[in-house]
Amino acid sequence: MMDEDTPVLFTDEYFMRAALRLAERAADAGEVPVGAVAVREGMIIAKAWNQVEMLKDATAHAELLVLTSAAAALGDWRLEDVDIYVTKEPCAMCAGAMVNARVRRVIYGLSDPRSGACGGSELNVVNFKGMLHNVEVKSGVLEDECRLLMQSFFRSVRKAKGDSGRKELSDPDNRKKEEV
Ligand SMILES: [Zn+2]
Repeated sequence: MMDEDTPVLFTDEYFMRAALRLAERAADAGEVPVGAVAVREGMIIAKAWNQVEMLKDATAHAELLVLTSAAAALGDWRLEDVDIYVTKEPCAMCAGAMVNARVRRVIYGLSDPRSGACGGSELNVVNFKGMLHNVEVKSGVLEDECRLLMQSFFRSVRKAKGDSGRKELSDPDNRKKEEV
């Protein structure tokens, strides 16, 4: 029986952990490690990870793939009672798609001051004044885990390229250096 002492199992951390596992799959496939899940009424209805390299498609971000998959699962493009958990702050493209899909909440781990568009930078697409729909934002959920995964991915990429490769904007190490 449920009582006041029953622990809440399905916390934001729980769903972010699921997104992190998907981000690890992206890293295993040589993709920038971003994972996302769509949650409705406490249940994961869609999962996705970044597939830009595999699909050779700049729009194949985890968030766009999870929105498409969630809409297919519900048979409706309106995701008004859906929350999106994603390991990195969504970019302008994905944030715009969340507004169009009327997503209820976006919960992300790592802020992205360079290309994020959900309040972690100056660009805040999901809460732009005058927009037809605003998406509630929560940031910093399991941020350390999300950052570690991103850092270890870019370190291994640099190692493979002999440290002279093109610096990626999403690389947290790179960001820190440029911000100094
Ligand atoms: Zn994106």
